Amino acid sequence: MLSNSSIELDRAHLVHPVASWRGHEQSGVRLLKSAKGATVTDAEGRQLLDGFAGLWCVNAGYGHESVIEAATRQLRELPYATGYFGLGSEPAAHLAARLADRAPGELNHVYFTLGGSDAVDSTVRFVRYYWHARGMPQKDQFISVQQGYHGSSTVGAGLTALPAFHAGFNLPLDWQHKISSHYAYRNPVGPDPEAIIAASVAELRAKVENLGGAERVAAFYVEPIQGSGGVLVPPKGWIGALREVCRELDILFIADEVITGFGRTGPLFACEDEGIVPDMMTTAKGLTSGYVPMGAVFLSDHVYETIADGAGAAAVGHGYTYSAHPVSAAVGLAVLDLYENGLLENGRKAGARLLAGLQSLSDHPLVGDVRGRGMLAAIELVTDKERKTALPVSASPATRVFDRAWQNGLIVRAFAQGVIGYAPPLCCTEAEIDAIVERTRTVLDLTLDDPDIR
Ligand code: PMP
Repeated sequence: MLSNSSIELDRAHLVHPVASWRGHEQSGVRLLKSAKGATVTDAEGRQLLDGFAGLWCVNAGYGHESVIEAATRQLRELPYATGYFGLGSEPAAHLAARLADRAPGELNHVYFTLGGSDAVDSTVRFVRYYWHARGMPQKDQFISVQQGYHGSSTVGAGLTALPAFHAGFNLPLDWQHKISSHYAYRNPVGPDPEAIIAASVAELRAKVENLGGAERVAAFYVEPIQGSGGVLVPPKGWIGALREVCRELDILFIADEVITGFGRTGPLFACEDEGIVPDMMTTAKGLTSGYVPMGAVFLSDHVYETIADGAGAAAVGHGYTYSAHPVSAAVGLAVLDLYENGLLENGRKAGARLLAGLQSLSDHPLVGDVRGRGMLAAIELVTDKERKTALPVSASPATRVFDRAWQNGLIVRAFAQGVIGYAPPLCCTEAEIDAIVERTRTVLDLTLDDPDIR
C-alpha cells in the first residue's frame, strides 16, 4: 500500500487518541512500518531508536520470534475462548497461575481485561462490591493523587488528575477526590523526602476526615511512579507510609502498575521496590509487551474471599467478551519467559546507565531536574534554573522537542512545558542507551538555540 494514500486515509478517517483533531488534520500521521529490538523504521525508511517503547509498553522490545510463534500457535489452535459459562483456555489458566506466583504477597487472584483503563474500571467495581459484601455500602468515596493517570474510561479519567481528561467531559465524578502529588521538584513543602511524606500523610488523613471519616472512604489509588503526569518519582517510603494509613483506616489500597509493572522500574513489579503489598493491583502494557492487548487486575486473597462469600451462588456481574483472551495469554506467557530469562536483568543494568547518562546532562542550561528509576526516567526543562521557570507553553515546547528528537533518530515522550520522558525497551544495549543520551544532548542544544523558547 502506498504511504501517501495511507496518510490521506488516516487524515480523513482515523481519529487519533489524545490528539488535537484539527491539529491532526493539518500535520497528518507519521506512519511506522516495521520494528526490531529497540529500533522502529518509518514509512520513509528512517530508523529511530524507540526511547519510549511505543507507549511505555513494548518492554521486551520488538520482533521476538518466541512471542510471534506463541501467538501464531494459539491463533491456529484456539483463537478465542470465552470465560463465561465456566469455559476457559489453557494459556489463560497458566498465565494467571504464574502471575499469582510472581506477584507480591497474597495477590493470588487475577482478572484479565483488555488494557489498563478497563483494569482500573474493574477495580472500582470490585471495590464497591467488596464494601457491599462487608455490609458497608456507605464506604463509597474514592481518593487518588494530583497529576495521576488512571485511564480513559469515564471512571478512570475521573480518578485521573490531568486537566485535558476532565475539561468538557463533566469530570471528575462527585465521589472522586484528590490529594496533592509528591512532585519533589516543585513541592510547596520543598524537596526534603521526610517533609513530603509527612505532608502527604497529613493531607490524606485530612481528606478522609473531610469526606465524613473512614466510614465513607472506599479506596485510595496510587501509581508507584506517576507516569503521564511527567514521570514523578515519590521519595522512598512515601508509598509505604500511605499504604499504612489505608491499612489503619480500613481503606482499600490500589496500586496502578500499568506503566511500572513488568520490569519497567527494575523488579517485575514496582511495589517490590518498596516492599509493599496493595489490596489490588492493575497492570497492562508490559504484560504482553504491547504485541497484543491485555490488562490484568490482581486481587488479594482477602478481597477475593470477601467478594466470593458476598456473592455466594450468584454471579458477580462483571465481564468482557475478551476477558482472558487465549492469544493474549499465550503472548503473556512467552513475554514472561523473556523477562525471567535475562530481560529484567538487562533492564536493571540499562536503566542505571540511562539515569547516569541523563544525569550527565544536568549541567546543560535547560535541564532543571533529572529523575527516574530503572528504565523509566524524565528530564524537566526550564529556562531559568534558579526560578525553575517552565518553558513557554505558547511556543509548544512539547511539539518542538518531539520533532527535533525525531529528526535526530530518537522517539521520546515530550510532555507539555518541556518534560522529556523515557521508557526504552528493557532489551536496549549499552550503545543504544548511550545513543539515547547523546541524541537528547543534541535536542537540548537545538532547543537552547531556539529564540521562541528562551
Ligand atoms: N493506568 C496508568 C497508570 C496508565 O499509565 C495507563 C495508560 N498509560 C492506564 C491506566 C490506561 O491504560 P490503557 O491505555 O491500556 O487503557
